[in-house]
Amino acid sequence: MHVVDNPQWFEHTVLWLKSNYTMVSLSVFEDKKNYSKRQSLCHLTFDDGDLTFYTVAFPVLKKHNVPVTIFVSPEKIVSHKNFWFQEIEGYDTVKMAEIVSNNSLIPFEMAKEYGMHAVLKCFEIEKINEFIKIYQTHTDTPPKEFRNMNLDEILDAKNSGLVTIGAHTLSHPILDNETDEKCEQEIAVSILKLSELINEEVRYFAYPNGIPNLDFGEREKEILRENHIKIAVSTEPNFATKRIDEFAFPRKGITYGNIRFIKFKLFLGKSWNFVKNIQKLSERRKREILRKKLYLC
Ligand SMILES: [Zn+2]
Repeated sequence: MHVVDNPQWFEHTVLWLKSNYTMVSLSVFEDKKNYSKRQSLCHLTFDDGDLTFYTVAFPVLKKHNVPVTIFVSPEKIVSHKNFWFQEIEGYDTVKMAEIVSNNSLIPFEMAKEYGMHAVLKCFEIEKINEFIKIYQTHTDTPPKEFRNMNLDEILDAKNSGLVTIGAHTLSHPILDNETDEKCEQEIAVSILKLSELINEEVRYFAYPNGIPNLDFGEREKEILRENHIKIAVSTEPNFATKRIDEFAFPRKGITYGNIRFIKFKLFLGKSWNFVKNIQKLSERRKREILRKKLYLC
């Protein structure tokens, strides 16, 4: 989950999950012996540290005693700056397509058709920030107000004993787009700085965007192992089995919908991506096409 803006929906969903699964902490999955009961174990995670976690989700989790993990960036917590994808919310997609095509090899029509997110995810984080700066200057748009939790709120959540804190890089780049040096920095420094902020060892990590072999690969897993991470979560919608790779740990997204819909999504597992993209190009496909344009032109 990312943003939780409906407390009724959230409480209803948590209660349904609680009645169908044993809600455990992420540390339970460090031991593969526990995977034999895999279908009945469930752990909830929240990426980015949106303030609605603290104001909406956290009170419900406390009420029903449900352990969760949040994945945050120490740099954003300290600088009070939003992640790039939060900053571009509501931006004019045609204007952004124009900026991208004027400053890269992506043609305007393609940038417009594929959408801002898929297009920006083909670039290094420095380039994404450059596009945003140009947009803000051209359209006289000020940076948005900080929308994530501050350190006090994160520490309050942690001190409840229910919330584990994991790292989520410094600036939320698509790691696979970055140089070896930048990738190492984004991962290692985020783990180190976060452990200093929360005064505790950081054992878990969430890859930004999280699609295996598109957003991250073996290089990232190796850096994580070197930095003593035990589990790194992806966005591959699947159940955890004994055979899974702890450094590409699957997760299923639940962000909306009634219980019937959530049940359907959980049941489909990996096939969800196929169903979701039946009539349109998947983000993976779009980005593969865009990448070819960028590298082959
Ligand atoms: Zn994220």
